[in-house]
Amino acid sequence: MIRFDRLALLCLAWLLAALQPPAAAAQPAAAAPAVEVTQPAAVPTLAITPLPAVTSRPTPTQAAPPVRLAFDEDPPAEELDLRPPLYDLPWAIQAGDHFLFQWPIAADRISWIEPNYRYGDYFPDSEVIHTGIDIEVARGTPVLAAGPGKVVWAGYGLLLGRGNLDDPYGQAVVVRHDFGYGSRQLFTVYAHLDRIDVKEGQYLEAGDPLGLVGSTGKVTGPHLHFEVRVEQNAFHTSRNPELWIAPPQGYGVLAGRITRTSGLPFPDLDVFIQSLETGKRWQVRTYGPLSANGDDFYRENLALGDLPAGRYQVKFYYNWSWRTHEITIQPGMVNYFTYSLRDGFVDGPPNPAASWSPPEWSTP
Ligand SMILES: [Zn+2]
Repeated sequence: MIRFDRLALLCLAWLLAALQPPAAAAQPAAAAPAVEVTQPAAVPTLAITPLPAVTSRPTPTQAAPPVRLAFDEDPPAEELDLRPPLYDLPWAIQAGDHFLFQWPIAADRISWIEPNYRYGDYFPDSEVIHTGIDIEVARGTPVLAAGPGKVVWAGYGLLLGRGNLDDPYGQAVVVRHDFGYGSRQLFTVYAHLDRIDVKEGQYLEAGDPLGLVGSTGKVTGPHLHFEVRVEQNAFHTSRNPELWIAPPQGYGVLAGRITRTSGLPFPDLDVFIQSLETGKRWQVRTYGPLSANGDDFYRENLALGDLPAGRYQVKFYYNWSWRTHEITIQPGMVNYFTYSLRDGFVDGPPNPAASWSPPEWSTP
């Protein structure tokens, strides 16, 4: 598989600061020209599906037998493998989790998240912030709906206005899903498509093809840019898709919140993660300012999916010294920590003493 450097996959969400509203949920109309805004309350007919009991933690099966293909280059072994099967949808084995979407690429194609350009990555020079994930996958691969719903956008101009061929998203499709998060609707975005195979108003089941992976818009190579948007179909309502797509079986998600002494999130901080079992390393940055949003429940400012279950070291340089911490990644769930100078590292989900609990999500 071709490796792209960090900037090579700079796909989009070239969300210029100038276009950015001061706070999420504020001034949606001004911020997202010509992007369809939906009726906020319209999830009336859906049955509420209770969260599975926390005690019913499954015994994950490890990765499916990998299919190895020969390449001239020698990328990391994992990236030559197919993604293991995902947990069944919807998947949530603890309160706060909401893995409601499937991977938007078929299981028989090699496709992984571009590791060097994740949600919330920020480039101050260009004032670009990444409001989705990039999926490395071959040009022409069918893109699949991540969940059931209706196509509410198909074509050029998702950011800049309908029909604008200079739009950074290129040809894009947006699906408004049948299910919601609390009373709010959910949208998924599929961008840089070489071909769109659906029309606005069309209904899709989960897994229905909607177009082909390509390189339209602001890209230097073919890939799929994928976003999750909450409540409104607008760039400033995105959330980290790694907290919404069901993990591969045997894999978990790390989420964290690193704060300044003020209690506000520490932006744009490099965080290093290393498996204490295999030695494999990952790097992730805390979300940049502006359009990157933490989850309503977790309020994280970093998240990293696709971590095989096991023991890890988390490490970052903060206030003139290295801060290190060991954490266990449990499969099929969000594994959460916070860090502040006052309290250091604290494992576990946000303090339940807060008078707020995660909204229930609903399924069709
Ligand atoms: Zn992208």
